[in-house]
Amino acid sequence: MDLRESITTIKGIGEKTASCFSKLGIHTVGELVNTFPRDYIFYGEPVDIKDTKIGVRNVVEGMVYSYVDVKRVRSLKIVTMTVKDGSGTLKITWFNQPYLKNMFHKGETYVFVGEVKIKNNMRVMEHPEYYRPAEYENMRQELQPVYPLTKGLSNKTFQKAVKSARTAYLSLKDYMPEDIRRENNLMELTESYENIHFPMNEELLKNAIRRTAFDEFYKFLYELKVLKQDNVRLINNHKIVQGKAVAEFVNNLPYRLTKGQQQAIEDILSDMGGDNVMNRLVQGDVGSGKTVVAEAALFACAKEGFQGALMVPTEVLAKQHYDEISVIFESYGLRTACLIGSTPLKEKRKIYEELKNKDIDILIGTHALIEDKVEFKNLGLVITDEQHRFGVNQRNRLATKGDYPHVLVMSATPIPRTLAIIMYSDLDISVIKELPKGRKPIKNCVVGTNYRNTAYKFIAGQVAEKSQVYVICPMVDVSDTMDLTNVTEYTDTLKESLPPEIVVETLHGKMKADEKNEIMLRFLDGKIDVLVSTTVIEVGINNPNATVMMVENSERFGLAQLHQLRGRVGRGSKQSYCIFINGKEDDEEVTKRLKVLEDSNDGFFIAGEDLRLRGPGDFFGIRQSGDVQFNIADIYNHADMLRLAQEILDKHSEEVVPDVIEKIKQINI
Ligand code: ADP
Ligand code: MG
Repeated sequence: MDLRESITTIKGIGEKTASCFSKLGIHTVGELVNTFPRDYIFYGEPVDIKDTKIGVRNVVEGMVYSYVDVKRVRSLKIVTMTVKDGSGTLKITWFNQPYLKNMFHKGETYVFVGEVKIKNNMRVMEHPEYYRPAEYENMRQELQPVYPLTKGLSNKTFQKAVKSARTAYLSLKDYMPEDIRRENNLMELTESYENIHFPMNEELLKNAIRRTAFDEFYKFLYELKVLKQDNVRLINNHKIVQGKAVAEFVNNLPYRLTKGQQQAIEDILSDMGGDNVMNRLVQGDVGSGKTVVAEAALFACAKEGFQGALMVPTEVLAKQHYDEISVIFESYGLRTACLIGSTPLKEKRKIYEELKNKDIDILIGTHALIEDKVEFKNLGLVITDEQHRFGVNQRNRLATKGDYPHVLVMSATPIPRTLAIIMYSDLDISVIKELPKGRKPIKNCVVGTNYRNTAYKFIAGQVAEKSQVYVICPMVDVSDTMDLTNVTEYTDTLKESLPPEIVVETLHGKMKADEKNEIMLRFLDGKIDVLVSTTVIEVGINNPNATVMMVENSERFGLAQLHQLRGRVGRGSKQSYCIFINGKEDDEEVTKRLKVLEDSNDGFFIAGEDLRLRGPGDFFGIRQSGDVQFNIADIYNHADMLRLAQEILDKHSEEVVPDVIEKIKQINI
């Protein structure tokens, strides 16, 4: 079997199953074996129903003790039954699987595996896995991989497919020489694939993940090195010398710049006026005021007579930036335009024309900026904001719209400096450390679920004072309809707990882009009081009137991500609050980790603590969104592998070429 072949060459995968796989972006054998489990489940000893822990996965063995009931609620068909063991009773529920009614009969015993919740004072397990006791006995004590799934594709089918595809990777020869592997405790390559998909035990799984993270970093750094060799130091074709004009621009701002902002602007001016093309990263915590730094750079560029472009990841953010920038720039006689996917075609054409004729100085927009039709007359500077949302290639594509324009990227991801130097080794870095003066520090609390009602009262009080509120519910897997039910269900409960005049709306990843935009804009307009959202919440959005951020199941997020979410509030003059609900209060380590957020509002400190507390190799937490999207590697959790990859690359880049990785990852048939 070849890694490049279509997955339909695997026995048992027909057109129908293949089309389910293709929804997950899996078309080839190579893509299949490179789709790693998103979690592993350990099937342990069943516990007494009375001892089940709330909010986490439990295994119970019980007898069906009621008749199995099916009822309809709105569009849902709900199957319920009650099971009991010697210690207590447990309600079991499934949504939209009415056929399950005939699976179970009163008096029979099953093992159920799933999360236990309390509803109406009863212990409830929703959508559990179920097994006959003998069947369960067979899988006990094994680590079971859980793959990302989609409708019509079961975990069992996925597992079987990977098993059949094993031969495709087992014959590969490791690109990493044995002596280097031994010296650095790196598992052999094919062995790592084996143990990621079929882990024999936790120790081997850990080592396999470690090796895979290493490979991802090594390949990334290797490519970066090649890239850098290709474009050593480019000659500056766009000398921009506008120190005086920028000083005036800064003087006219309604506030004084912080030291970090000033330094960043100085760095930028010195780059753009120098002999080589600028290639700079501005890194600053959320709310540190990166936008104005971008504005100053664009201003200098336009004053010099060149065009500039600012690319952001979402339409809402593009509009928000445009509204601010266009007003300021037009007062200086500079012309701006906004180009996004939903711009009407007629207007788009006009913008294309004006860009070519240089009737537009500054263009702001989304990915729409890198479409082929967009042509500039003399592009001198490109900026990408919230750059972690873009790949290196998208960044570069914007730059190819000009003749080696200056490049500036902005990031709010607080990576410790040592890591940043590796991750962004092709960029110079300016760091904005401090927040603008006069901000009231956000008041934080980490509390248990029993605090929820108090929190709702607090939220009602803030809305009564004309403030707005974000509530975040985690959605682990976008393809999981179960979690979707949770968000809508959650919103219903929330509405019931708040006074009826409060407007509550939901935002989630399943919505169409324009639906999401519409809700975001209404929220910015103050027409929505409480926005319940999954983490699709737009990055970079500035709503200074939002004063409360409540995060459900905080324990499921990394600290750095929680800090990013928190950055949505505390942007105005009003006092802001962050309520982190801890669903695992009994877990001392989790609580200790979350408490870091209570003690500090400093993103860099938090990222460091996250790294220290979770340590490398914590693979059961939700993976943090790093700056570059790796499959398994995580710049915080696997910081040691990142350093090791850099070290080996520095010593052996000539002989250790990650071409096998290239081969394994062969995609696109
Ligand atoms: P981020 O770094 O997260 O992109 P923004 O650029 O959106 O932050 O800035 C957040 C808010 O702070 C904006 O409302 C902006 O006008 C304001 N701001 C920026 N710099 C300063 C400053 N030096 N003093 C006071 N307010 C500032
Ligand atoms: Mg920003």
